[in-house]
Amino acid sequence: MVARVYIQLSIPFKISMKKIDKIEVKKRIHEEITRAEQDINRLAASVKPVSPDNAIGRISRMEAISARGVSKSALSQARVRLAGLKSALKNLDEPEFGSCFECGEQIPLARILLMPQSKMCVACAESAE
Ligand SMILES: [Zn+2]
Repeated sequence: MVARVYIQLSIPFKISMKKIDKIEVKKRIHEEITRAEQDINRLAASVKPVSPDNAIGRISRMEAISARGVSKSALSQARVRLAGLKSALKNLDEPEFGSCFECGEQIPLARILLMPQSKMCVACAESAE
């Protein structure tokens, strides 16, 4: 929402504002990378093999294994996200960064941060499905 208003206001100063925008994008991507790395560390700790003895207290072994499965899929999602964020960071200086692969429209910052691996705007991504 905020990003959209910002882009509209910046139209008369498109070239210079775009540079400022990239600094902001870079900062936000770095923040998201830190968050993703924290998630990965936390999840990686919770997917360690469930010990066969009864050292896990009240939670049964079955429940522990099931919780571990949930963490495992969350972990692989977090890893995909981290890889997407890192490649977004690497592509940040490309002139086409942040533009929709399909229609060339600017992709909102919120979407870039949410789905850094996506190269299309919401409308094109939806019609591509
Ligand atoms: Zn598009």
